[in-house]
Amino acid sequence: MATLDDNLATAKGYMTRWSDGCLNHIGGKAMPAASGKTFATVSPVDMAELAQVAEGDAADIDAAAQAAKAAFPGWRDMAGAKRRDLLHAIADAIEARAEEIAFTECLDTGQALRFMSKAAIRGADNFRFYADRAPEAQDGQSLYGPGQINITSRTPIGPVGIITPWNTPFMLSTWKIAPALAAGCTVVHKPAELSPLTARLLVEIAESAGLPAGVWNTVNGFGETAGRALCEHPAIKAIAFIGESTTGQHILRQGASTLKRTHLELGGKNPVVVFADADLDRAADAAVFMIYSLNGERCTSSSRLLVEASIYDSFTAKVVEKAENIRIGHPLDPQTTIGPLIAPGHLDKVLSYFDIAKADGATIATGGARWGDTGCWVKPTLFTHATNDMRIAQEEIFGPVLTAIPFDTEEKALEIANSVDYGLAGYVWTADVTRAMRFTQAMDAGMIWVNSENLRHLPAPFGGMKSSGIGRDGGDWSFDFYMEARNVAFATTAHKIPKLGG
Ligand code: NAD
Repeated sequence: MATLDDNLATAKGYMTRWSDGCLNHIGGKAMPAASGKTFATVSPVDMAELAQVAEGDAADIDAAAQAAKAAFPGWRDMAGAKRRDLLHAIADAIEARAEEIAFTECLDTGQALRFMSKAAIRGADNFRFYADRAPEAQDGQSLYGPGQINITSRTPIGPVGIITPWNTPFMLSTWKIAPALAAGCTVVHKPAELSPLTARLLVEIAESAGLPAGVWNTVNGFGETAGRALCEHPAIKAIAFIGESTTGQHILRQGASTLKRTHLELGGKNPVVVFADADLDRAADAAVFMIYSLNGERCTSSSRLLVEASIYDSFTAKVVEKAENIRIGHPLDPQTTIGPLIAPGHLDKVLSYFDIAKADGATIATGGARWGDTGCWVKPTLFTHATNDMRIAQEEIFGPVLTAIPFDTEEKALEIANSVDYGLAGYVWTADVTRAMRFTQAMDAGMIWVNSENLRHLPAPFGGMKSSGIGRDGGDWSFDFYMEARNVAFATTAHKIPKLGG
């Protein structure tokens, strides 16, 4: 197995390409921002600059939207089978550059290689899944009424804007862009400013695989300028957004004047509910995996651990033991589980919760501190003796930080699980099937896993309730968003038509 030194040497080779900067990609051409402005993307390992990034603004968004608009009729009208073949070719090209994608993602985000090594495979899977659905995307239903046959069909909505966050940018970009392309939409993508590099690789890979120019455009820049301009652009028919709940509110407001269709995948404060009758070893492994993998920077992380009071002490002790054995280190070290958080600003936010927890009366059972003197690492942390009204129990911290709350009864567990603003995911551990059915039907969460960690099945719906979002991805749900339904009613009888005016 390669060592950290081997990987650093390989990564150095991959990073040389960025000496020319991370450019925008509009109408099939790599280009700097119209203003000529750039900003730096740095590695959270050591704050070293990785690249200067084109700082797009409204002018670049306009150029990209015009390119997407011009490319739309050709892409919409391309036979579904041809679109399918092109999307499979993109998946092949992603797999061929899997190592470069993984290493670049590790350095730009701080995510550990043991997870990012699968980013390209998962990204390619997203393309293959939607590639296979492209030929049938326009299909609809026949609905028979009295003297009438209704034929429904779907048609791509038009050029769409896609705005993604920094936590796992490659995977999330593919998850949004693949169904848009399969549906027949053209795309303007605005990646997160904190980790833009793999989005640039992705559009380049797609065109090298044969995607026509203008079908997919990427504009880097900040949310308040480039992102906002994308939401407001009249040629863009819909915005698919992944990010924070407060940003989601801005997206809705910014899209209001052009009546943008909007899909929001937002934050979470997801409960993992452990009843005493569960397989506690498996539950502990899953809870630990769901909060400490991906540095806890994961929308579906199990950030609230609700444990039946009779096993609270023993179960949280198990979590502490596991947390203390987790390897922290350089993201390119194959042994590393926890890498640095994305950026100093986010590090400060996560660290601030340690004081908040203490002030509110919780106990820091493990972690609760920075790791290393430089870089953005945080030790895997468990708060115990927490109550539901504490900020650590209510707010999305988005780090390797878990809040454990005891409960006495099933009713109380449900009340705690549901009494947050969010409703993205939930996890329930119990051997009692009837209770699992009853409990999950009452949970405020768009996605619930019983006796399991988050195991994704691409045909299943993905998305949240309450402040966690509006709309669903996955399976056919993505096509509902990226496509318009059209109904045509054919008269089958010479029915009586009301006669007005003689
Ligand atoms: P963020 O909301 O700060 O930024 C996300 C994107 O929105 C970035 O590209 C940013 O530039 C852009 N943006 C910011 N302000 C904007 C504006 N006014 N108009 C248009 N675009 C704007 O989120 P983040 O900090 O990058 O990501 C972390 C958040 O994402 C967490 O809350 C996490 O839970 C959430 N997330 C959700 C899911 C999900 O599927 N539900 C998945 C991953 C991450």
